[in-house]
Amino acid sequence: MRSAEIEQMPQPMIGQVTGPTPEVGDANPFKTANAPQNHIRISRSINMSTSFLPPDSPNQPYITLSALDAGYLWLPEREFVDPCKDPEAIHKAPSLAFFLVHPNGTNLVYDLGIRKDWENYPPVFVERVRGGTRRIDVTKDVRDSVVAGGVDPDDVNVVVVSHIHYDHTGNPNQFPNAKYHVGPGSLELIEESVKTEDPQENWFRDELIPDNKARIHQLPPYSSSEWKPLGPFSKAFDYFSDGSFYLIDSTGHLPGHINGLVRIGPNRFVYLASDSCHFTSILSGECAIAIWNDDKGNQKCVHSDVKAAEAHVRRIQELRDRGGENVEIVLAHELGWDVKHRARFLPGTFL
Ligand SMILES: [Zn+2]
Repeated sequence: MRSAEIEQMPQPMIGQVTGPTPEVGDANPFKTANAPQNHIRISRSINMSTSFLPPDSPNQPYITLSALDAGYLWLPEREFVDPCKDPEAIHKAPSLAFFLVHPNGTNLVYDLGIRKDWENYPPVFVERVRGGTRRIDVTKDVRDSVVAGGVDPDDVNVVVVSHIHYDHTGNPNQFPNAKYHVGPGSLELIEESVKTEDPQENWFRDELIPDNKARIHQLPPYSSSEWKPLGPFSKAFDYFSDGSFYLIDSTGHLPGHINGLVRIGPNRFVYLASDSCHFTSILSGECAIAIWNDDKGNQKCVHSDVKAAEAHVRRIQELRDRGGENVEIVLAHELGWDVKHRARFLPGTFL
């Protein structure tokens, strides 16, 4: 959808409709949303600015970026997009991970996908796999993919997990020499969840993070001056302090949810959108983020804060529209991406 159509889109009504406080259910690993009853397609609001993305520096380092297979999961369409073409459709989607190499020798794995030994997930998830309400397929996990790409897992220096949903945390102990980063608030999610919920019904448990706690480095709080505005985003963390890889505050899907902006060449960026949305039809504006009812009548959404998630999608749309061919956006569960882009999987690269 381009500019001529944008003007025909309805104005956003997000936040204008209030609904009853939804109950927190357990039918899904995703928290019940603070969701409006009526939800709309996310229209564009392009605010042209004099600054966009930071230009290349004179000796700008670039990241060599590759994709990694990290398992598959089945997504019921009706839980993600509205309108959905087929309420009965359940799609097999990849859970993509990525491999970043900085010229300084750092090997970084972004997201860990789904773990092969799923019986070691929190019990609430294991029960659902056994009961057939959750379906996954992990023939090849992220470690297998690193090895298949010719890299020794012991040589992975850094792991960044976009958020602590099970399909991104994989087996957190697989790269023992790596610093392990999560977004601000992720560890608090585990701490608070343990305190307030029945441990047997708790999705956010220690199983999701490394046993060796000395490896874990949560990124600084968003109140820190290390987070700075970048393009359409209000908070970006320059991971290598050289403009090659930024982590972006993507609050909305889950507390601590972050995205990655990778500089892969002169004025060339890839935006790792993680779970900012799950289907490209949301990014295109064809569909809205779904709010659905479970069998107990509870309102559910895959995002913990749907208004914030919708606002973040609009920022990604702005990034796409202003970046044009210089910015590519990849969703963590984009249907068919793994088939279409085989040449980009390690040892292949995006360029
Ligand atoms: Zn998620």
